[in-house]
Amino acid sequence: MKKLIWKIQYDSTPLVYRHCKKCGKKTHFKSSDQFRVNAQRQYLDIWLIYKCTKCNTTWNATIYSRISPQTLTAEQLNQFQENDQVLARNYAFSSELLHKSGTECELPEFSVVGDDIITGEYAEVKLISEYILPIKISAVLRKKLHLSQKAYKELVENGRIKDRSDRNLLKSKLNLEAVFVFLP
Ligand SMILES: [Zn+2]
Repeated sequence: MKKLIWKIQYDSTPLVYRHCKKCGKKTHFKSSDQFRVNAQRQYLDIWLIYKCTKCNTTWNATIYSRISPQTLTAEQLNQFQENDQVLARNYAFSSELLHKSGTECELPEFSVVGDDIITGEYAEVKLISEYILPIKISAVLRKKLHLSQKAYKELVENGRIKDRSDRNLLKSKLNLEAVFVFLP
């Protein structure tokens, strides 16, 4: 049996849909990959800065609010102050942060990287996402296999694609990874 690995690659960080004061309507905000750190007084505040994609007006998503500076190690604080790019990306993909901010989040476009499956082939595929996003397994598989909703449904109902942990392939959301078996 052929074993493959597919990875989800996101085109950008998730966009936040919220009211922009300058535009006077709801617009999309994108992470600027920059943090704002306020460590002047006895409390520490940290935000991730978002910018309106139309007019660049900023909006700060709260990461830490009025915490004791001792909560973070010097190294952690330094990562925020230096705008560590991995950290900024992790926060921009954090559904917890977006949920906490009470904003609507729009999933970024993505592509699925990895060798294609030849029809009629017996194969096992491990699908990996770097971030936990509310993305449906069916959306990912349909994209990679270039299938219409109907054709995908048929494949699943005929047992030609199976999830190793028996998840419902029509409804389930992908967590960090999933393993599928393709049957001829
Ligand atoms: Zn704006």
